[in-house]
Amino acid sequence: MGFFDKLKQGLTKTKTSFDEKMNNVFSNFRKVDEELLEELEEALIMSDVGVETSTRIIANLRDRVKKEKIENEEDVKSALREEIKKILDEVDNSLKLETTPSIILVVGVNGVGKTTSIGKIANRLKKDGKKVVIAAADTFRAAAVEQLEIWANRAECQIVKREEGSDPASVVYDAIQITKQQNADVLICDTAGRLHNKKYLMDELVKIKKVIDRELPEASKEVLMVLDATTGQNAILQVKAFKETVDINGLILTKLDGTAKGGVVIGIVAENKMPVKFVGVGEQIDDMEIFNSEDFVKALI
Ligand code: GDP
Ligand code: MG
Repeated sequence: MGFFDKLKQGLTKTKTSFDEKMNNVFSNFRKVDEELLEELEEALIMSDVGVETSTRIIANLRDRVKKEKIENEEDVKSALREEIKKILDEVDNSLKLETTPSIILVVGVNGVGKTTSIGKIANRLKKDGKKVVIAAADTFRAAAVEQLEIWANRAECQIVKREEGSDPASVVYDAIQITKQQNADVLICDTAGRLHNKKYLMDELVKIKKVIDRELPEASKEVLMVLDATTGQNAILQVKAFKETVDINGLILTKLDGTAKGGVVIGIVAENKMPVKFVGVGEQIDDMEIFNSEDFVKALI
């Protein structure tokens, strides 16, 4: 299965939800008028796109309807697709790993798919011929390290770990030294995500970031926040909480195979100017792809 098919299959639920709402709007279709535009706007808002972003999309659509004299259903849909894609393309989705070594710090709340995504990304980079080291900086539970180790073995990458309860920043420090010694291309750091212990968690992240900046001042750094697409609007609150502490430069959107709420990504990208860099569409090692706005929009509408 190619990426597009996988994503399309993965987005079925999102698509159904989007589709249902679109179908509802278009089932009474008579002509392209203000009423239709308002109903489309409401459908976008209901699909977790966000109020501000939905309003913007429809304002642009309204302009085009006027200018291009759009009159039929297919043309409205196609213009809508293009307007959503435009928003997703306002940010740079490319992964910047320009130095050797480069570093990827993965953050996000518990259960969103950080560890799984790290395994998938490590596997991808490895297949691209890169030497990857993984740091087990979620030291809170031994099981977290074990889980990461399984993924590291699958991707055939070295893992750097310490015993349960160790200082996460020290694990990252160790991992950086090993990455340098081994002349590895990319270091990927897993982190904990206990948001209920917010102050502690955020302090931990600040400390990790300090170690990285001190030990690898010249390195390309990607701080990627993982979001579970099935959480809908809650994802917006998570981004807010993490943004206060770390400069996030991209998102990994997981579980697009299990969501009816993938629309949330459009709002998050637009309102935070944060690009999506990867999407997860399953639990297997190959179920992750580089985000492609064209495919995303086509699969959605
Ligand atoms: P973490 O707590 O953020 O490290 O999350 P994990 O990586 O442990 O993942 C939590 C659960 O989500 C696991 O059961 C994963 O298999 C599952 N998961 C992660 N990514 C995806 C995905 O893209 N699709 C699906 N269906 N499940 C996923
Ligand atoms: Mg984890």
